[in-house]
Order: sequence, then C-alpha cells, then structure tokens
Amino acid sequence: MPKAKRFKLMETGEVRTRFAPSPTGLFHIGGARTALFNYLFAKQKQGSFVLRIEDTDVERSKPEFEKDIIASLKWLGIEWTEGPDINNGCGPYRQSERVKTYEKYLKRLLAENKAYYCFCSPEELEAKRQDQMARGQAPKYDGKCSSLSAAQIKKNIEADKKFVIRLKIQEKKIIFQDVIRGKIEFDTKLIGDFVIAKDIRTPLFYLAGAIDDYEMKISHVIRGEEHISNTPKQILIQEALGFLKPVYGHIPLILAPDRSKLSKRHGAVAVMEYKKAGYLPEALVNFLAFLGWNPGGEREIFSLSSLVKEFSLENVQKAGAIFNQKRLDFINGFYIRQKSIEKLTEFCLPYLIEAKFIEPVNNKTKVAKNYKIIETGEKISSSFLGKIIGLYQTRIKKLSEITDFVDFFFKKELNYPKGLLKWQNMDWPEIVSILSELEKMLSAIKKQNWNLTNLQNILLLGAEKLPNRGYLLWPLRVALTGKESSAGPFEVAEILGKEKVLQRIKEAKEKND
Ligand code: GLU
Repeated sequence: MPKAKRFKLMETGEVRTRFAPSPTGLFHIGGARTALFNYLFAKQKQGSFVLRIEDTDVERSKPEFEKDIIASLKWLGIEWTEGPDINNGCGPYRQSERVKTYEKYLKRLLAENKAYYCFCSPEELEAKRQDQMARGQAPKYDGKCSSLSAAQIKKNIEADKKFVIRLKIQEKKIIFQDVIRGKIEFDTKLIGDFVIAKDIRTPLFYLAGAIDDYEMKISHVIRGEEHISNTPKQILIQEALGFLKPVYGHIPLILAPDRSKLSKRHGAVAVMEYKKAGYLPEALVNFLAFLGWNPGGEREIFSLSSLVKEFSLENVQKAGAIFNQKRLDFINGFYIRQKSIEKLTEFCLPYLIEAKFIEPVNNKTKVAKNYKIIETGEKISSSFLGKIIGLYQTRIKKLSEITDFVDFFFKKELNYPKGLLKWQNMDWPEIVSILSELEKMLSAIKKQNWNLTNLQNILLLGAEKLPNRGYLLWPLRVALTGKESSAGPFEVAEILGKEKVLQRIKEAKEKND
C-alpha cells in the first residue's frame, strides 16, 4: 500500500535524510561516516538533512555527548538543515522532548488493539526462553498477555503491577528493498510480539524512531548495518500505524585491518581525538567517504563539495570497510601540503604552545602575532615561526608531528646522541677539525649577508675539497639540529641565524664524542 505513495514522495524531489545519534558516548568516526553519507545524499538531491538526537535512554544520555556530536559535525563541515538548533517545522528534534507524540501513537495502537500491555515478569519470560531454547525453538514471546480482558488490565495497573507494551504481530514475511544490499526478507515468526514501550511515556528505540521518521517526513533511512535487524520491527510499526515507509540503506561496518569491528582497542575512534592528533577536517571527510563508498577509478582526493556531486548510494559496498590508517595519513599529508604557510602556522601553533616551546605575548586576539621562546626568553613572531613550520610542510602527515621536527629550534642546548656527528669513517679529531673549519667559514659571513644563497654557495665551495659533501654537511646539520634527520643544513642555518649557528657548532665540538 504505501509503495506508490512513497515513490510519489520521492518524485517530488523531497529527499529527506536524517542522522539520529544517541548521545551516550564520545562521537565515533562510524557515526561521522553515517552522518556524512546522509548529508551527501540529501545535499546532492537538494533535499534536507535532519539531525535528531535520540536521547530516550535517560541514564546513558548526557548533554556533554550531545555537545560533542554537534561540535564534531560542525568541525567536519557536515551541516544539517534541521536539528535541535534549527526547527523547520518537524521539531522538536530531541526525542526526550517528543514524549507527547509517542504517547499519542501508543494510545492509538492500544485502542486499536494493535498493541497490548504485558505483565509477565522477567523471571517468567526468562524461564520460557530457556524452555524454548531447550526445545530447539527460536526464543520469542508466546503472546500470553495478548488476550487479557480490559478488566484484568485495569486491575493489574491499579495494583501497580509492572508492565511493558508489546506490538501484536501477524505471522508473515517482511520484504524490503535495501538500496545498498538489495532485497531483504524477514520472517516475523522469528520475532514474536516485541516490546515497543516500557510504559506509555517511555517508548523503545524502534517505536520512537519509526514515529519520528514518519513525523519528520524522512524519505531515506541511511544507517549502519547493525540496524538491519531493527528494520523489520520498524516496518511492522509503520504498518500498524499506517505510515509511509522510507527507503532503507544499510551501510557496511567499519572494520580494523584484522577484520574485527573497529573499536577503541584499535586506537582513536572519537572524532575529536582525530582533531587533537592534527588531522584536518577535509582529510577526515575525504577518508570517511571511502569507508564503504568507491567512485571507481584512481582518484582519491575529494573535497566535500566534489563528494556531493560524485557520491552515490548505489556505489556503496555491502562488505565491511577496512579502516586503513596509512591512507588517512596520506590524505591528511596531501591536505596539509595544500595549506598556505599562514594557515599551516595557525594550525600548528597550538601544538608548539602545548609542547611548551613558546608562549604568546600580549595575546589579545585569537591568533597571537608575537611569542616568546620559553627556554631562551627570545621574542619570535608568528611569521618567523611560519618559516620554521614551513620547512616541514611536506614531511608532516598530521599537525601534531610538527613538535618532534622543530623542537631543536626552541632549545637552549642540544643533546647529541652518541656517534651522530660522525659521517662515514670520520674519527673525532676529524669531526672537530671540520667543525672548526665550519666556524671559520661561517664567521666570515656578515650578518646582513646571512641568507640561503650565500650559505649554500660558501658551504658547497668549502665542501669541494673533501671526498664528498657529507663530510661537511652532515656534522654541520647534526651540530645544528641534534637529529639524525631534519630539513637541510642551509635552510636550518638560515633560520637559526649566525649567532646560534656558531654557538651550536662550538657546543658540538666540546662534546668530545
Ligand atoms: N540512535 C541510533 C544509534 O545511535 C540510530 C538509529 C537509526 O539510525 O535509526 O545507533
């Protein structure tokens, strides 16, 4: 019956999707992927994307988790057209504020004898369940309370007997066409009369969701594969209430590389943890889109707006999507390289502050212009910090990595790991003589001529006398950075400045390795 109507709804172009998270924990990347697919599909069809907060579980739902969902989605750029903060006529958009609506429908189901009060105790239900299983039957409710008389129900309620409300179902096959998984069939024989509410004001997830999808005129329910088994129950509720049925699409699970379900034990799963680790929102969005969707072809880089154009539900796979950290890092590195130095600096500064390398001076604006190097007390401008950060733009895969690369710029003194100053078969006296040679060459450069080209010309000329450039450039680079790998010695020397360069060479010589 509702089929024709459903297609009419879609033909009018009214695609309405929703993302319906439960605020019971930190917002997970799996949720972000579901939100993204719903957003992309709605946006592509010029439809609406609803954010609905499913907070009926009073004990586990917390306002701070709702805040985390909202902040994470906003950070990712996944914006809803209707939600707790934007009422477009179908609100409120928090289930805890919709109890009256659920009550109205529950009363209707009870009055029409499509649902009934069940007073069976948990112990009784458990004993029956055990018995059914022992007889090799699928455990389900036996319908005992479906035939209680109105008088019996009244008496039980007056006696304060605990109850739940169950939906009365007929034995039949439920068939629905999943946009991603094709035809799905369920036998209601396996379900039995299931619980839809704990009491008249406390609907369970199946009921609240089915009512809200109808009331909010949702045309497509796109959600995780773990919800497939809820769909027949929700279809039964829709049928009992004479609702239009939305189109369903169940997107695949996200799996860890070992093919187990991705969880905390595999590392970060909360969106905000990715932000903290220095992933860019556009990289995470690009990456999440590929968790289950593939446009075919070689192209890997998609902005949010190009995803809106290219995304298709039909191209979403059924098989679990493997979370490949290397791919995320690769994509993030790509977006980091696209940033202007100013932007990259702005993004990296908080990590340098957190690492206690620098602190803002007279900070009145969001992004301070002037900083102080904590160890040395020197003043440093954000544009100068930009030069340091820029040296590593092509090397970092996530913003947080910047601190390990640039720490030596902010240290008073460096530690030289044993033997690191040594190039090939050099011995210590040779290193000292090279370092002394470097001191001479570099002291001769006037401060105003201290620039990349001069440093390069003078040092390369000096290296010509040696068996290879490494004899000069390796000890120099290590003396300046204390690191096995870093940006090139000319770039580092230019930024450190004459005084510090000479100071560090002197200190390296004194190391007596
Ligand atoms: N609130 C449910 C969850 O967080 C989603 C329900 C749905 O998408 O229908 O898993």
